[in-house]
Order: sequence, then C-alpha cells, then structure tokens
Amino acid sequence: MAREDYEVVIGLEVHAELSTKTKIFCSCPTSFGAAPNTHICPICTAMPGTLPVLNEKVVEYAVRAGLATECTISQDSKNDRKNYFYPDLPKAYQISQYDKPLCEHGKIEIDASTGRKTIGITRIHIEEDAGKLNHDEFGRGSLVDLNRAGVPLIEIVSEPDLRSSEEVDLYLRKLKSILEYIEVSDCKMQEGSLRADVNVSIRKKGATEYGTRTEMKNMNSFRSITRAIEYEIDRQVDVIDNGGEVEQETLRWDEVSGKTFSMRDKEDAQDYRYFPDPDLVAIKLSDEYIENIRKSLPELPESRKQRYLTEYHLSEKDANIITSSKYLSDLFEEASKICNNPKAVNNWIISDISRILNETEMDPVEIPFDSKQLAKLVMLIDKGTISSSIAKKVLVEMFEHPRDPEDIIDEKGWVQISDEGAIKEVVMKVLENNPQSVADYKAGKEKALGYLVGQAMKETRGKANPQMLNQMFKEELK
Ligand code: ADP
Ligand code: MG
Ligand code: ZN
Repeated sequence: MAREDYEVVIGLEVHAELSTKTKIFCSCPTSFGAAPNTHICPICTAMPGTLPVLNEKVVEYAVRAGLATECTISQDSKNDRKNYFYPDLPKAYQISQYDKPLCEHGKIEIDASTGRKTIGITRIHIEEDAGKLNHDEFGRGSLVDLNRAGVPLIEIVSEPDLRSSEEVDLYLRKLKSILEYIEVSDCKMQEGSLRADVNVSIRKKGATEYGTRTEMKNMNSFRSITRAIEYEIDRQVDVIDNGGEVEQETLRWDEVSGKTFSMRDKEDAQDYRYFPDPDLVAIKLSDEYIENIRKSLPELPESRKQRYLTEYHLSEKDANIITSSKYLSDLFEEASKICNNPKAVNNWIISDISRILNETEMDPVEIPFDSKQLAKLVMLIDKGTISSSIAKKVLVEMFEHPRDPEDIIDEKGWVQISDEGAIKEVVMKVLENNPQSVADYKAGKEKALGYLVGQAMKETRGKANPQMLNQMFKEELK
C-alpha cells in the first residue's frame, strides 16, 4: 500500500525549562552557560540526609501554563518519585508527578492548512531536570555536569490528535508562543529550554484503533522535528507493507544521516516504580490562589491578533506572523507608538526583518536592536533623511553591528541628498549622458523616466531623494 493509505497519528510530550531564578527543590541558580558544577549544592547533588523544599514559583508558573491552555487546575496534587538509573541523575530517581498532575484536560487551537483545529492537552505536570553528560570526543569517558540537575520543568503532554508534521510544527510554535507570552519559559530551543518527545504511529485509513507508536526523544529544532517525522512515517509504512510490525521503542534521530536509530525498548510505568515522595508535602491549592493567577495572566496571542485586525487594520496573515512571537509583537506595538506609523513598522517586520530571521535561523528574542531603534529607522525615512533603499542597508547593519540608525547613517555617509542644487546637478548630468531616453520620454514613453531616475540613483549610490528626482526630471523634460 502507498503512504496515502495510512493515517498518521502523533502525540507530543514537550519539556519546557521554567525561568524561575532558582531550582525546584533548592536555592541554586538556574541560569544557563555557567562553568560545569558551579550551580550545585548538597540537595541537587543528592547528598544523603538532604531534604527538598518545593519552590512555590514552580507551582505558580505551571498553573499559569495550565490556565493559558485552558486546563483544569487540580487543587489536590503531589510529587512522585520516578525511579531509574542514569549517571546524570544522582538520586537515581527523578521527582515528577504521576497520577495527580497539576493541570489536566486543556487545549490549544492551531490554524492548519485544512482549517482551524483543536489539539487536546492531556496534562501538564512539574518535574526536575537531570544533569548533563559531556561525552569526551576522544572517547576517554564522559564528564557529568550537574548545573542542570534540579532545574524546574513542566511537561506538557498532548493527546494523539496531531495528523501530520505540518500540524506538529504549528502546534509546537503555538505552544512556544503561549509559554513566551506568559513568561514562564524563555523557550530557547538551542539551549534545550524547550524540547519535544515525538510519538509517531500509523494506521490504515478508517481504522479505529491506534497503531503501535515509536518515540523520538529530546528533539529541539523545528526543522529536525519535521524531517524526523517524515522519515519515521516512511519507515513505518515500509515495515508494515513488508508484512512486519512496528515495535514500540525509543528512537534517536540523527541529523547528519537523516535517519532514526533504536535506543531502547519502551519502558512501562511499572518499570519506574512510581511512588509518592515521602520528603515532600502534598500540593493543595485554594480557589483564591488559582483565581489570582488567572487574573494576572497577560493578553495572549489570540486576543492580540484580534486587536491588531481592528486597532491597526493589519491583514490576518501579518497579524498571525507578528503575534506568533511575544517579542515581535512587543516590538511592533512599542515601535508603532513611538513613530506613530504602524503600517511602516508592520512592513518592516513581515518583510525585511522576517527574511533576515529566516536566513540566519535567528529567534526573534535574539534581535539585537530594540523598538526605539526600529522606530527611529522608520522616522528617518518619514522625515526624508534616508531613502527606503538606504534604510534596508541600515537595517542589515543594525543586525550585524547593532547601534543607533543615526550613527550608522553618519558613519557611512548615507544621509539622503535633498539639496536642490545637488539634485539638479545629478539630473543634468544624467540627461546629458542619456539622450536616447530623453528622446523616448519626449516621444511619449513614460517608462523612460523611471530609467533616468534609476540612473540618478546609481550615480548617487542610492542617496538622492527619489521624489525630488522625479519632480526635477519632469520639469527639465517639459
Ligand atoms: P508515556 O508517558 O509512557 O510516554 P503516554 O501514554 O503518556 O506514554 O503517551 C505519551 C504520548 O504519546 C502522548 O503525547 C500521547 O498523545 C502519545 N501517544 C499515545 N499513543 C499514541 C499512538 N498510538 N500514536 C502516536 N502517539 C501516541
Ligand atoms: Mg513518553
Ligand atoms: Zn542545589
């Protein structure tokens, strides 16, 4: 059978590192990039006799995430031990949540090419991250870094409602933007702050039972997730078409070869011997506590999008692009307020800025300039100090060597020529050098004017004021 004869079923388990200042059960800092084993203490290194104390902020952040995804918040929750051995897990168990997660039964809406679709959120629970093994490239062994041990995570488990790699991509982007908006995680995928376990199965179209799934662990780039899913679907179709059965197992995606490899057989819940952590008290939340968090939630992407349609008259497509990232959305609103030209700011964001972000695979949070500087760029065009073609070059500079647009223009000598005498000089020179175009224009070929203006622009390396050029040429050619 062909691939079209199968339906793809995908469910995601997404881990997001919370941006609390301190770890989940001790007061060590959570910041990324410190020297190995400098953010550790007896608790997160599991010294005998130490006791964990739950960081209240972790509960608050998880509840925020639950409310933002329309989950029911459990008022009676607890922590459980998930037992397994791994060298980066010094306690030999991870404190997680098993049968009483903080949040359940939520949903996220995505706008797929086939229309709007609701993806169910099974649960969101809190847990601690493990440390990290640094494998020595010369094969002499591995070094363990426990800075990450005890960094708080939420795990967001989706229902198996996703039906294609496109839907997975949209779902993950939506989830990422929600977590950014409510400021519970910085979601930096390259730093592993947001990573997904991707469960994939296939079944014959029309079948009512799900097929056996495989799970690809710890994926942290949109591009690899799409590639890995496509590869895994083809692989499973092949297995079944050849009379085999898909085995339930954990896979590792290898970006270089573009293939998945078996890591281990799938373990069951009973392999983990879950039990309530006797060192931690139950988590009881009052109605008031939950309501206060609900009230403190900021405006979410969906509502911002609606507002952009009515308040700024953006197109649906542009509003979607801008609100997909809280950073872009803030940039848009703040810059628009400063320069009072939302239309221009919108254009910069969806065209040149988006293009550069795509080309450099940069996340919007990494944009090196701020809303004031973007607003200044727009105002410099509006005032006629620079032309929009020069402005494009200024923007590239702002990405490469971030500084104020005025400084860039000064340094580069890019100020627009609006001096009448100087413009006239160029116009006369161009007219003299292009007698054919002059004749064409006089013979009624309007297009020739555009050519002459282009020549004048070339002559001034894009610095001449285009409106003035146009006018001056028309006058001289009368
Ligand atoms: P575990 O915690 O053991 O990995 P769960 O039952 O909690 O297993 O499911 C984990 C994820 O796998 C969920 O996101 C769920 O939607 C997804 N999933 C479950 N069954 C399937 C299936 N047959 N095909 C694809 N995804 C599945
Ligand atoms: Mg799993
Ligand atoms: Zn610690």
